[in-house]
Amino acid sequence: MSILILAEHDNKSLKPATLNTVTAATQIGADVHLLVVGFECQTVVEQASQVAGVSKVLVADNAVYEHQLAENVSKLVVDIASGYGHILAPATTTGKNTLPRVAALLNVAQLSDVIKVESADTFVRPIYAGNAIATVKTTDTVKVLTVRSTGFDAAASTGGNAEREVLSQVIASDRSRFVKEQLAESDRPELTAASVIISGGRGMGNGENFKLLEGVADKLGAAIGASRAAVDAGFVPNDLQVGQTGKTVAPDLYIAVGISGAIQHLAGMKDSKVIVAINKDEDAPIFQVADYGLVADLFDAVPELEKSL
Ligand SMILES: Cc1cc2nc3c(=O)[nH]c(=O)nc-3n(C[C@H](O)[C@H](O)[C@H](O)COP(=O)(O)OP(=O)(O)OC[C@H]3O[C@@H](n4cnc5c(N)ncnc54)[C@H](O)[C@@H]3O)c2cc1C
Repeated sequence: MSILILAEHDNKSLKPATLNTVTAATQIGADVHLLVVGFECQTVVEQASQVAGVSKVLVADNAVYEHQLAENVSKLVVDIASGYGHILAPATTTGKNTLPRVAALLNVAQLSDVIKVESADTFVRPIYAGNAIATVKTTDTVKVLTVRSTGFDAAASTGGNAEREVLSQVIASDRSRFVKEQLAESDRPELTAASVIISGGRGMGNGENFKLLEGVADKLGAAIGASRAAVDAGFVPNDLQVGQTGKTVAPDLYIAVGISGAIQHLAGMKDSKVIVAINKDEDAPIFQVADYGLVADLFDAVPELEKSL
């Protein structure tokens, strides 16, 4: 039985989370197929067929798939599901939106946010905001999983030479339609793929003060993140939120500035390789996970850090 992966993309490029999902699939150990569902997404198909470890790229390119609505994409996946023992997607908002629907239509349970493959039917995933790790064995005939990208290295984006198959099914979405989107534009690296992240919390005081972090981010080539308190206070847009209800990140270096380290924030960043905390409260819980901590006023420490870089 082969493994089907729903590719994450925006019709222009294949998103890095797909590559981590390919690694998870190769650890399960079977033929890996990538499904690209979109509209005018030929460059994505090119990129998908070069990913190392992928033997086939299935392509559904039609206007009805332009915004990858879960209602019709899930039906398409179910339509081609026979022959697959596993169906995977990255645990991004798109994957989290579509895959549980696929599982329900197939009448199987879904496993969310898998961080480790034990065997073809046994998987590891965090529960209780990352405070316990559950090992789950599934007896379902088709195993439907979303994969946490920080749990797996990225597969090589080149070196593969997958065959292509064009799918003829055109399944329109009769229950939902796409109205519009508001995308936050940024020249910085994408948060979940960045190797360095500097995040600000409520201690930043206001949105204007986030400019302080930009200076350091520019010098380190870092992405900027935030706590939920910073997002809720309107300092920054919510797509910067790191944590249980935001993004899960595991960069080489995570710098937390004016963030107390609530359990829900730690859930999104505690697997970072090196954690640095700058906080004026020496009892802040963030210092319990920080490799390097500085008890200082951020308005002194951050400009000094920028100057010395
Ligand atoms: C269901 C649920 C889901 C949640 N999901 C998330 C999530 O995904 N992500 C998330 O982040 N939170 C999440 N939260 C919220 C979380 O519980 C905390 O409220 C939040 O993380 C606190 O953000 P903060 O650390 O920025 O603010 P605070 O806890 O207020 O901490 C601010 C810190 O800044 C320090 N500080 C203030 N001024 C300065 C200064 N001048 N210099 C240095 N330090 C200073 C203070 O000492 C303090 O430690 C969730 C909560 C719930 C209930």
